[in-house]
Amino acid sequence: MKDIPRLQVVDENQKFTEELPAYMEKWGLADAGFKYNVVAVFGSQSTGKSTLLNRLFGTSFVEMDENQRQQTTKGIWLSRGRGMHVLVMDVEGTDGRERGEDQDFERKSALFSMATSEVIIINLWEHQVGLYQGANIGLLKTVFEVNLQLFQNQKSKEKTLLLIVIRDFVGATPLENLAKTIRADLEKVWENLSKPEGLENCKITDYFDFMFSGLPHKILLPDKFDEEVQKLRQRFTDPENPFYVFRPEYHKRIPADGYNMYASSIWDKVMTNKDLDLPTQQELLAQYRCDEISNAAFEVFKEQIAPFKIPILEKGQIMADLGEKMKTMREQALASFDKSASRYNQGVYQKKRAEMLVKLNTQLGVYFVGQLNNLHKKTSVSFSEKLKNQLKEPGYNFAEVVANCKKEAMDFYLSAAKAILLPETDWSYAHDEEVLAEELNEISASARVEEFKKMNKALEKQMQTELADPVALALNRPDNTMWHKIIQTYKNTVTDGEKMLAKKAKSFDSSEEEIQQSVTDLKRQAWIVLRKKVDEELADSLLLLKLRDRFEEKFRYDEMGLPRVWKPEDDIDSYFQKARDETLTLVKVFSKVDLSEDAGFEIESTDDFDFQQSLTILTEAKQIDITNRFKRESDAFYLEAKRSVVATTAKVPTWVIIMLIALGWNEFMAVIRSPIYLMFFIFAVTIGYVIYALDLWGPVERILTTVSMEATKMAKAKLAESIHTTGQGSQQYELSTIKDKND
Ligand code: GDP
Ligand code: MG
Repeated sequence: MKDIPRLQVVDENQKFTEELPAYMEKWGLADAGFKYNVVAVFGSQSTGKSTLLNRLFGTSFVEMDENQRQQTTKGIWLSRGRGMHVLVMDVEGTDGRERGEDQDFERKSALFSMATSEVIIINLWEHQVGLYQGANIGLLKTVFEVNLQLFQNQKSKEKTLLLIVIRDFVGATPLENLAKTIRADLEKVWENLSKPEGLENCKITDYFDFMFSGLPHKILLPDKFDEEVQKLRQRFTDPENPFYVFRPEYHKRIPADGYNMYASSIWDKVMTNKDLDLPTQQELLAQYRCDEISNAAFEVFKEQIAPFKIPILEKGQIMADLGEKMKTMREQALASFDKSASRYNQGVYQKKRAEMLVKLNTQLGVYFVGQLNNLHKKTSVSFSEKLKNQLKEPGYNFAEVVANCKKEAMDFYLSAAKAILLPETDWSYAHDEEVLAEELNEISASARVEEFKKMNKALEKQMQTELADPVALALNRPDNTMWHKIIQTYKNTVTDGEKMLAKKAKSFDSSEEEIQQSVTDLKRQAWIVLRKKVDEELADSLLLLKLRDRFEEKFRYDEMGLPRVWKPEDDIDSYFQKARDETLTLVKVFSKVDLSEDAGFEIESTDDFDFQQSLTILTEAKQIDITNRFKRESDAFYLEAKRSVVATTAKVPTWVIIMLIALGWNEFMAVIRSPIYLMFFIFAVTIGYVIYALDLWGPVERILTTVSMEATKMAKAKLAESIHTTGQGSQQYELSTIKDKND
């Protein structure tokens, strides 16, 4: 069987080993938690302690060679019991012969083993019992004193088990009697002990439980010895045994992973001779170990959360399962902490756990905030996009669309934010939620302004089409009721616009005030549109056209609306004058919007809209200009009229006919008398009758006129040509006479 490795925890120079953690691993006790026990042995040098331990626990402590009787290496040794979770401590100390010198180490090792072990085996020779002899009593006195020092501050008194093993037990005196003697001796020692303040009346049994066992002579009765040792072993291995030694109340409650730390710090205190009280030591240990455990768990945790960094903090992404992941990782870290740390001092453990939770939350909080920011941005962007898209759909209701989009966006945000909010944190998204809602409001407000603009444009267009025809029509038939008609059209348009506004107002959730403002704007806008239309219609060329139409109507047509054929006896001049004067009154009519039939009609003026001013259509200067231009144009009509009279007059005057009859009487008679002439005459009369009967006089007349005019023209051309060749002077004279006549 392979030896179980042993370790010299404290060497002969009283230095504490650094290899304990490694050995704990080797012994398989590093992760034992509380499931291990510690037993130490105490007694004079060379009393067979190491021998006993090796037999009892299967350890391999050095035993003194029987032949050489040489002292073994001083120090404190540690090993593991074979087949059991037990740390076995062998204290190699005082040799009775060299006492004085070693009292110091004896005390130190006693302190150390008392502080770290649950069961102390005290090794005694039977023949020493009842001798109340120096070496033994000194040793026990030390143990008691040390114990009092260690546990003086302990509130719930922890007990230590003293297992007194009587070696070379012969059996002549029964064990009970020996035990009684020993107890009496111990009481005596306890009585004489100088006790610390406040503990003067404490009893030995407050601190110790006793157990006795006798072992036969190892060399004289080896078989018996082995047999008894096996029986004694049962007390260490079998919890069912009535003398089972490792009862829970003796356990020092140092988790196995903290044993090295604890043991070394105890030895440190022992060496520096500082006050050593176990509760403080245990608390310090708990703090130290909890920090260590927390740091280890935290390192693992940090590695786990590292992959969050790039997507969330750098790429601005939203991790779908971040909340779950964070929660799991935090739970894992805490569980890993709890597993080891919960065994230490509860007060310290709880405090450290809370600290760790804060630390974990701080780390995770970065990602909570990061993800929340990303979420905020995404919500805002997708809200804005969705709103835009839905506002493109025909017949939308703005308020409804905004409400829907907002609800959808906030639902998305809230559910995602809730998903990353971990319990047991001071995290909150309330403020961010508020800011986001504000942002969405701003986005919808600016969308509203945009939509309002669009609506106004549509409204304007509608008004334009609605106004265009009636206004044009009214202006084309100018009379005294013209402006009244136009104002009526304006009013109808405004009423229609108001209807449309009212419909839209619902969609925009407009306030009463806003509607009022819109109506005012609408009225003004409609007026501006109307004015533009009027200006368009009354642009110079169109205005002149209107005047000419009216003039023509008055001058060239009679009251029945039939075209006038000017006769020489007609007074063209006064007709012309009358028509022109009448036409020119229109300039006055057009020049200003006439509100005489619409008393009280007014539109509110603003900084850049003056209603009174807008009533003026044509300025004074413009009126004069137009009047002059029209006058010039009308002259052409006058000339034309005059000319047409000349053309009619050019036909046949009556006196010519009389003259014709008088002078042509002979010819007439000649025609009647001559058959050939008569035939011609009858033929001519027949044609004349046909023309008359078929009412072809007009066309014939026209043909004749045209022909005669052509002929005149040609004659004139010939004449002009001949005059041109004779000289310029006479031509100029002729032109000036024509002009004079016109004026
Ligand atoms: P330690 O110094 O107390 O550890 O003693 P050791 O175990 O090294 O043994 C010292 C000597 O005592 C050795 O020579 C052993 O053989 C001897 N020895 C061991 N057990 C007994 C015993 O039960 N009775 C007697 N008389 N001698 C023993
Ligand atoms: Mg020994």
